[in-house]
Amino acid sequence: MSRNLLKTSAGPLQQQYRLALLDLDGVVYRGKNPVAHAAASITAAAKAGMTITYTTNNPSRTAQTIADQIAGFGIDVTPRQIITSALVAARLLRRRLPEGAKVYVCGGEPLKDEVRRHGLTVVDSADDAPDAVIAGWFPDMGWKYLAQACIAIEHGAQFYATNRDLTLPREKGLTPGIGAFVNAIITTTGVRPVASAGKPESAMYDEEREIYAEDGDDLVPVSQSLPVGDRLDTDIEAANRGGYDSLCVLTGVTDARQLLLATPILRPTYISADLRGLGTCHTAPAAAGEDAFALGGWTASYDRAAGRIDVRASDPARADADADAHGVSAVRADTTAVRTDMTDADSDGDATLLAGARTSVDALRAACQLCWTLADRGIDVSALDLPEFDL
Ligand SMILES: [Mg+2]
Repeated sequence: MSRNLLKTSAGPLQQQYRLALLDLDGVVYRGKNPVAHAAASITAAAKAGMTITYTTNNPSRTAQTIADQIAGFGIDVTPRQIITSALVAARLLRRRLPEGAKVYVCGGEPLKDEVRRHGLTVVDSADDAPDAVIAGWFPDMGWKYLAQACIAIEHGAQFYATNRDLTLPREKGLTPGIGAFVNAIITTTGVRPVASAGKPESAMYDEEREIYAEDGDDLVPVSQSLPVGDRLDTDIEAANRGGYDSLCVLTGVTDARQLLLATPILRPTYISADLRGLGTCHTAPAAAGEDAFALGGWTASYDRAAGRIDVRASDPARADADADAHGVSAVRADTTAVRTDMTDADSDGDATLLAGARTSVDALRAACQLCWTLADRGIDVSALDLPEFDL
């Protein structure tokens, strides 16, 4: 049985952990725009003594470009704090190849620069008999680059990838990520990558700690490092693979249902609406009798006969106050509705979630702890009638 459940923190996360490993897209920015509360929360965490670093699976932008972007949000940052999958991939290559080894880069200039900077020789085609091929997403990716990569690999070059993301979400829809191109190379050659640098591999976080230590800082242990991300199957899985605690924020791609159905490797240690969660203490939901967990005035319970998860305000006054403390203004407006709905729900037994609970992170946390505990007992949670959240 897994024990991957929500935990209680010893204090505000920014004091309990020395190093924050922040994902960027969906955590600090969404596309070109800053995520609400990110800049102020990051500034406060740094002030509290936390070292802030940023990780991205995207190898097509340089650390300087990214640092310039987030500095524009009012965040105090240097390029050294930005760890891209291109940097981690170049370090992985350098560990496995001798100095000056030839590498065909099926990727953009930032990745080529990192490979060169690590003492390797970038070559232009399969004709140069490269020792290794590395694939990393760039907007000009196409057949002629993939063809060179495949030919080099067929002739014995080792195959690496910056990351394995299958999709790259864009405003109008999903587009192919580097994983889709890596799969084309695998399909063509029958050869799989020796290693991939990006999340969900924990190499990203391990390298990040080491990169910091190389400049004279202490190596921060895993137990004092906190990956923070918006995606369960990259940010949070990488944390679990490496033995790290983690914080999932709800400002990006992960929704409540994904959290409720998360398998052990995808479960975060903490959940918060946004990066303000760095500055708060976190309390694990407490068992409240059989098949129920409570937190902040909300109780999630399993109705076995109905095949349903219910969330109710076990302590309405506390639930209101707690929701308010999380800055969810909509809940305050819904206070009356919560009480009314509760009576309705009690009388007809139909409503599974009260109006206020839909926007309460504590209600979601209680429901997650319950669903995860049930799943660990072998119950198929995806077949249950699950509460819906507007978070
Ligand atoms: Mg993200």
